[in-house]
Amino acid sequence: MTRWIGWTLALAACEITVVDPGTTSGETGSTSTSTNTGGGGGGGGGGGGGGGGTTVGMQRWESLGSANSGGSGVAEFTVPVQAGDTEFLIFGWGNDFLSIEYVRDPSGATVTKWQDWNGNNDLSDAFWPYGKDVSFSWPMRDSDDPLVPGDWVVGVATADVNWNYVKNKDVEASVRFKQDNDLSQATVDARIVYTGGLQNDAGVVAAVEGAVARWKEIWADQGIALAESYTDSTEDSDLGYPGEGSTDIWNISQTLNGQQVQLLVGELVDGDPWTYGIAGGIPGPLDPSPRAAVVVSTLAHSGNNGVFDDDEIRLMGETFAHEIGHFMGLQHPVQSNYRYWDALDDTPECTNANSCEGDLGDNLMFPYSLCSFSYCEPQYKLTADQAGQLHLTGAAL
Ligand SMILES: [Zn+2]
Repeated sequence: MTRWIGWTLALAACEITVVDPGTTSGETGSTSTSTNTGGGGGGGGGGGGGGGGTTVGMQRWESLGSANSGGSGVAEFTVPVQAGDTEFLIFGWGNDFLSIEYVRDPSGATVTKWQDWNGNNDLSDAFWPYGKDVSFSWPMRDSDDPLVPGDWVVGVATADVNWNYVKNKDVEASVRFKQDNDLSQATVDARIVYTGGLQNDAGVVAAVEGAVARWKEIWADQGIALAESYTDSTEDSDLGYPGEGSTDIWNISQTLNGQQVQLLVGELVDGDPWTYGIAGGIPGPLDPSPRAAVVVSTLAHSGNNGVFDDDEIRLMGETFAHEIGHFMGLQHPVQSNYRYWDALDDTPECTNANSCEGDLGDNLMFPYSLCSFSYCEPQYKLTADQAGQLHLTGAAL
């Protein structure tokens, strides 16, 4: 019932979950991190928006109501795409673990299904039931056919913690449609939240602002402007893993406006001094959720002395851009075991450290940092397909 309480309180928000389905380990060590949102307890999903459908900027929100997963364990939602819609972001929530089963276009053709992603290429963590809510956008890539008006159908599977289907479960969903006739220029609204009093630490504030400048520089190359705002929260600065039970993210996400991506700045992430950051989803939702954030550690970047040098500030800016990149749907071009790749055409499917670091080591979404002593190589490049994917997302308006 907490989800329903959340729904009535929230006007809108963002949710994030990052999962790398192909790997068993998350990104830890000297790496920017996106990791699987594990299962687990409480927290709530929740929808957002106005009453019967609202439009904010270039975005339209609609409730999709409730559906039952019946004997198949898949709840179907009709997504009414209108002329001019370029992307939809569906958000489902319930009391069971949820994942995307399939997406069908108005002709009944299946445009994607989870089985397509059960091999060595990853598109979205939404195909796996990591949490009790799920967010998924379509289309995700320039190579996906554009939306056509009509009734699309999204199947949402209900599962238990062991990923077995469970039958006859209710799921609630809402959707945000984006209308954007210029996918070459965009602005992303990012809310940056200091936790545990870090807004009073002048050194941290200067480093975060320097890192944001680096983030802007990376995105400016792709025609994406960052509109950032800063706030703070009394939540603990030892940030938890974004996912089920993340009450801090759940609480903070209640006041998101439905278009924002959110970045929480804390001293530590998941208690691990080597984790730079974790995104709550690939893609993350724009609705209230325990996954509605990227969490980033200051101490992992500055080292235990807590003092940033210029390279550490640059690295933190690249972490911001990398983790928000996950939140906006980007996978690693290759995972750190060199056996799983993204679903884009122009990122090479390299198979060992030498070739991957050579081909992709300067890519923003490379899975680990390339460091010698205290210096890490800049990682900031995006391929045309990666940039195209960012521009398609609901957060790029
Ligand atoms: Zn990553």
